[in-house]
Amino acid sequence: MARLILFGPPGAGKGTQAVSLAKDFNIPHVSTGDLFRAAISGKTPLGLQVQSYLDQGQLVPDQVVIDMVRERLAQMDTNGGWLLDGFPRTIPQAQTLEGLLQEMHQTCDRVLNLQVPEHVLVARMLSRGRKDDTESVIQDRLGVYHRETAPILDFYRTRNCLVDIDGDTTVERVTHRIKTALADLL
Ligand code: AMP
Repeated sequence: MARLILFGPPGAGKGTQAVSLAKDFNIPHVSTGDLFRAAISGKTPLGLQVQSYLDQGQLVPDQVVIDMVRERLAQMDTNGGWLLDGFPRTIPQAQTLEGLLQEMHQTCDRVLNLQVPEHVLVARMLSRGRKDDTESVIQDRLGVYHRETAPILDFYRTRNCLVDIDGDTTVERVTHRIKTALADLL
């Protein structure tokens, strides 16, 4: 059982690492980006509401994201733990998550901060070919990360649950580093 947050800039490899981590810990992988993309391809009301934000690399408004995550964490399969990927992404989201976890009598075990140099991030995103991975949208998303998301690191650092992981190497090596950082939880 583990409750984990995978944190890092776009292109750091959160989604890739999340898949094996969720399997090892047998916990659901909750990716807000994946949930939004599924809503968009299903043409649901939520999908229609968020599409332009994703297309432009802008953040979906906090309340929309928070309502979606609240609903997801209320589902039974998260009772034994969860892995959040791409959430929280703003200070208000982090604060709301903290309150939500208190309500549910849960705590986050660890926040893994994947660190990757900016030029590597850009190269990785350009090579994966997602719709929002064009050069100018990538620059916008990196700008949003520095302005809105990176300040969350201090929020978690003061709570002593943040672990920095050097993510500038192969997928396998990063996986190994993450497992080592979580060995006490397995
Ligand atoms: P990701 O797959 O995590 O890179 O997310 C893709 C896009 O979904 C982002 O560029 C945002 O438009 C949106 N998104 C995902 N998670 C969040 C979040 N926590 N807050 C606001 N927008 C989000």
